[in-house]
Amino acid sequence: MAGRSRETPLVGGWLGMCALLACNVASLAYFIRSFLDDRRRRRTATRPVANAAGVHPPPADDDDDVAIQPPSSEQHYIAAVAPGAVLNLELGDPTMYEPFWRGVGPRATTVIPGSDTMSYFSDAGELCWFLEPEFERAVRRLHRVVGNAAVDDDGDGGGAYHFVVGNGATQLFQAAVYALSCDADEESKPVPVVSAAPYYSTNLQLSGHFRWAGDANAFTGDREYIELVCSPNNPDGAVREAALSSSSGTGKPIHDLVYYWPQYTAITVRAAHDIMLFTLSKITGHAGTRIGYATSIAWLWLHCFIALSDNQWLRLSDCRWALVRDRDVARKMVYFVDRSTIGVSKDSQLRATKILGVVSDAYELPRAAAAPPPPRLFDFARRCLAERWRALRAAVAASSGAFSLQEETSGYCNFAKQTVAACPAFAWLRCDKDGIEDCAAFLAGLNIVARGGEQFGGDARCVRVNMMDRDQVFDLLVRRIASLKIEQPDYLDAF
Ligand code: PMP
Repeated sequence: MAGRSRETPLVGGWLGMCALLACNVASLAYFIRSFLDDRRRRRTATRPVANAAGVHPPPADDDDDVAIQPPSSEQHYIAAVAPGAVLNLELGDPTMYEPFWRGVGPRATTVIPGSDTMSYFSDAGELCWFLEPEFERAVRRLHRVVGNAAVDDDGDGGGAYHFVVGNGATQLFQAAVYALSCDADEESKPVPVVSAAPYYSTNLQLSGHFRWAGDANAFTGDREYIELVCSPNNPDGAVREAALSSSSGTGKPIHDLVYYWPQYTAITVRAAHDIMLFTLSKITGHAGTRIGYATSIAWLWLHCFIALSDNQWLRLSDCRWALVRDRDVARKMVYFVDRSTIGVSKDSQLRATKILGVVSDAYELPRAAAAPPPPRLFDFARRCLAERWRALRAAVAASSGAFSLQEETSGYCNFAKQTVAACPAFAWLRCDKDGIEDCAAFLAGLNIVARGGEQFGGDARCVRVNMMDRDQVFDLLVRRIASLKIEQPDYLDAF
């Protein structure tokens, strides 16, 4: 008994220690699990960034197999891409520009005090009352630096361009179509909107004023119409002029020049069209800031008179061929933006002002003034795109006839002061493999998402591929294309 009584506390002590140990192990396991769960939650939270940028991890049981985020929040967007990941290159997301802006650092940071930008109005007395004056100045300055579009009064009697800011070029495009059609005669409505195929596949909002009428080259009739002229063109990068002659006075062009910048094409002329659309998305890559702008020499019927006899005059505007500029189209576009979104975020305009200022400074300020010299956006983007085009063309050549691309073009660039090759923002990739009629479906089998040619009024054997995604995504694209051989029967084994 005495022995037992001596043992009992010993056993009790062991039991207690075991219970304590078990508790500790359980706590440790719980702690580790919570830590891992938390880390996983944070990883998943950053993953949409990668997804939106074109990386869709394939369904996988092993979480570590897919996009892995490095721990540093600074670098959370530099996602590794698993070899078999779905590459979403369907949209023109310009994430290629991220490393440039990381390199620029705080110089491009905008700080807005809580009490700022509160009113709806930027300048209530102006035609575009929601346009921030600094933003307008930054835009005009950049166009003067690059020389790609007229922004000043050329002294030709046409007056200066009016600026309208919008929520991306997308809103301004709708605004421009509205402005050019809302006052058309009732019998002309809805006014047809056309564009030469393959055309930028934008969705027109439903309207009683206008309607989408497809390929400009297939358009007939002498009715009033609007032509969208996208140059360089989305999807194929071609430099374009209006397909239809508007000499009859019934056609009104809208020039979508969002890719008319030195990284994509040679700047050959200072464009001076009636309505020109631009966007921050494609100049600097800030698509998320949602800032676009239109410059418009809006139209006015020139009341131009010819003497028929001493006291008899023919008013030519009634013959519908004499046009001059006035504020009218700009005013209607402003009305459209006002009605749809009551203006445009001032915060975004201020951010855009800062960003554009950094771009212009790097080209305008003396290089010695700042050490180290500020990085130059157009040089960066051109180098990046030129290298990508070289790699993609080599991959397509290596595919031994499975694919082909739009032809390479070049021209003398007034901005770069040299002859440069065009580096379009999109590849217009054609599947030449026998028996493949739907290139988008074929590429989907390779986990590559691209927009099918028929969505641009073009050939389903073609697809549009975004050239402006992140390096990791682009590198995988090139590897997959290069590993495909025309004679290879099972293409899915290719990567
Ligand atoms: N025009 C063209 C030709 C485009 O490619 C785009 C963007 N894909 C836009 C307009 C619209 O640009 P955002 O709305 O981003 O300013």
